[in-house]
Amino acid sequence: MRLLLVEDEAPLAESLARGLRELSFAVDIVADGMDAVTHAALNEYDAIVLDLTLPRRDGLDVCREIRRRGIAVPVLMLTARTALDDKVLGFDAGADDYLVKPFAFAELVARLRALLRRPRATIADVLTVGDLVVDTRSQTALRAGRALPLTTREYALLEHLARHAGALVSRASISAHVWDDNHDPFSNNVEVLMARLRRKLEGVRETRMIETRRGAGYRLVPHAADPVAGVDA
Ligand code: CA
Repeated sequence: MRLLLVEDEAPLAESLARGLRELSFAVDIVADGMDAVTHAALNEYDAIVLDLTLPRRDGLDVCREIRRRGIAVPVLMLTARTALDDKVLGFDAGADDYLVKPFAFAELVARLRALLRRPRATIADVLTVGDLVVDTRSQTALRAGRALPLTTREYALLEHLARHAGALVSRASISAHVWDDNHDPFSNNVEVLMARLRRKLEGVRETRMIETRRGAGYRLVPHAADPVAGVDA
């Protein structure tokens, strides 16, 4: 089981991580809310332990952001505050459980195990990025209200990008999620498919949404910054 531990108090983070690793969890530690969102978007964690008060983006904001992106990972929120309001806010933001500091390590482990036993929370059905709406139930996409005529594979690519909206999605990740294991990662299929998706997504009048980072991957954003020059797909 791979965990993301988001905690800015380094001694606490280290001691929790040490205990969890002894129980055979793989643990990544980040110390602020921006890094938390990036890590949650790029890695498939089994659970996130999320402190409420964090630098750059607080835990509620992080939780809202990862849910907005359709990431359904269970979230256990930590807080030093005991106010009922925080608890309510945490659940509204999409947290699955709540633990008030200070807590016993055994209590944390018990709550985590309970979360990991639960069936996966429902993944957001509808993903929204700017004027793009991706409906994962009907597997359809609308841009500014206009239905995009996507093939199954083009849709799969768009949904994968939309689930990680704002984050850089590597070519390897696309290869792994849009094709099966037999896909040749050295073929140019990703580039070809990306070009086809672009033509349908970014029509003549629409702003561009897919940014290309050469050698790194692609990013779906409401308004792409980079000009057409320099785009290789
Ligand atoms: Ca804190």
